[in-house]
Amino acid sequence: MNPAAAEMMEQLIHRGIRDPRVLDAMAGIPRENFVPENVRDTVYSDQPLPIGYGQTITQPYMTALMAELLELRGSEKVLDVGTGSGYHAAVLGKLARRVVSIERIPELCVMARANLAQAENITVLCGDGSLGVPEEAPFDAISVAAASPHTPPALIDQLADPGILVIPVGSRDQQDLRVVRKQNGTITTRLASGCRFVPLVGSQGWPEDRREKD
Ligand code: SAH
Repeated sequence: MNPAAAEMMEQLIHRGIRDPRVLDAMAGIPRENFVPENVRDTVYSDQPLPIGYGQTITQPYMTALMAELLELRGSEKVLDVGTGSGYHAAVLGKLARRVVSIERIPELCVMARANLAQAENITVLCGDGSLGVPEEAPFDAISVAAASPHTPPALIDQLADPGILVIPVGSRDQQDLRVVRKQNGTITTRLASGCRFVPLVGSQGWPEDRREKD
């Protein structure tokens, strides 16, 4: 592992990531393959970075935290909303049986498919993930990497029982990472962390034409 990647792994442990499967998965994926060349030098620092089309690769700590909160053990079918360049999907692909990932920007779908070509258990779809992927439901776990004004009901409907959904909910500028658990027909929600994600743009997220900040 290169020194910058080793430093990232130390940071994740320092910040409280404990699940050895999550740490192993992240240690095994070359993050530099998921960003454009102009930001490769800083790809292992704990921050989001631009990937083009106004979007970002999520900061490593947030990717690790979300993956850990899903409590994956290897047998699950997972929905990943907001593929971007595909890094988080790659991590989930090492932790679960199958990953369906959906991205709304066609160019990023193409980029992610190329980045994930070796990962046979990951499918990248192009479309509005705020509606989930009903034809592939139910999902044992759902991860949303874009900020929503509320938890989209379609995603709760498509969650298996038992199942866990993690999603940033709040304003365009600031959100709470919600952990929504479905168990024995009951939905419970807790807040795991403050966070800041790019907006979930779609019929159950923010409207397409609002580009300015609140
Ligand atoms: N998972 C990525 C994060 C990318 S940023 C990673 O590993 O770093 C979030 C992504 O969500 C952006 O690429 C954005 O285009 C996408 N997105 C926003 N709204 C969406 C929607 N309704 N459906 C699918 N993707 C969406």
